[in-house]
Amino acid sequence: MKLDRRSFVSKSVTAGAAGAALAVPMAASAQTSPSVRWRLASSFPKSLDTIYGGAEVLSKRVSEITGGKFQITVHAAGEIVPAFGVVDAVQSGSVEIGHTASYYFVGKNRAFGFETTVPFGMNQRQQNAWMYYGGGLQLVRDFLRDYNIVSFPGGNTGVQMGGWFRREIKSTADLKGLKMRIAGLGGEVMSRLGAVPQQIAGGDIYPALEKGTIDAAEWVGPYDDEKLGFYKVAPHYYYPGWWESNSMYSFYIHSKAWDSLPKEFQAAFEAAAAEANLDMMAKYDFKNPDALRRLVGAGVKLHAYPVDLMRKAQDAAFDLYEEEAAKNPAFKKIYEPWKKFRAEIMLWHRFAEHTYSNFVYTNPPKSAAKKA
Ligand code: CA
Repeated sequence: MKLDRRSFVSKSVTAGAAGAALAVPMAASAQTSPSVRWRLASSFPKSLDTIYGGAEVLSKRVSEITGGKFQITVHAAGEIVPAFGVVDAVQSGSVEIGHTASYYFVGKNRAFGFETTVPFGMNQRQQNAWMYYGGGLQLVRDFLRDYNIVSFPGGNTGVQMGGWFRREIKSTADLKGLKMRIAGLGGEVMSRLGAVPQQIAGGDIYPALEKGTIDAAEWVGPYDDEKLGFYKVAPHYYYPGWWESNSMYSFYIHSKAWDSLPKEFQAAFEAAAAEANLDMMAKYDFKNPDALRRLVGAGVKLHAYPVDLMRKAQDAAFDLYEEEAAKNPAFKKIYEPWKKFRAEIMLWHRFAEHTYSNFVYTNPPKSAAKKA
């Protein structure tokens, strides 16, 4: 039946009532669903606007998709839950959802490492492929069942930078006794190379570097590092951050909260989480080039890690994984298929991806080279 708007309106009392009548069929299913309000505890401060912002993207899109019926309020680290209390808070159900980095919790079980990444892991594209299609997300969710958590990928930084050093690092020998702010499994690998890893919160890094209490510190990449001003006290900026070849953040949902969501709200959440996962990487790729240019303009000295040091670090990392897999079944269950997937995707990416990237990054077209 073709709707004749004029005759429709004439039968109604007002145009407003007609609008409401027209809206009924589309909104019916949302109207019969209960309104849901969740509290999200972030492990990140608002100053890390790109990472913290991943939860805001999620919240905004979930609300828009559900016509405002599903609201997620975002709380920065420390507002309702401390940064490293997010897993406990979601596990107990004191908040419905958290936004965090799984590798903050390797102290509970080293198997927590894989979701964010472990040293010499995959890049952001490869991590997404493993999580969404390679069985990674299922393995992670199986592991997190004991913590009453259902996980969704929720953003990525891409390959991070390798940290700020007060002095140049020419070989592995220069790491001996070097005090570096680096957490988790990256810190354990650094320790196997002779460095002394330190756990220091973001806001305390600058004064520690300035006083010489520590010799080096890693954080994220140009955009976030510039804001903390490390370049003023430790001018040697190394790359790549081989302990964070990608850094995937996660939305952790209390399993009962997830199970009790209406199906259409679950679908809205899945769509919004996937968008947040994509959005953070795009923001970083947009913001980092300018920040790096400004840092170099301010006198920062860029250095690649010596290849020999990286080889030793990679060997140390995989020794650690093999040792851990031999004594930790939860770690082994994720590590074995992860290792296989990693080898296979890296073999494929050696051909088209690597060859193309390697060519265009080092061979600008002649016309562009003249202008530069
Ligand atoms: Ca980092």
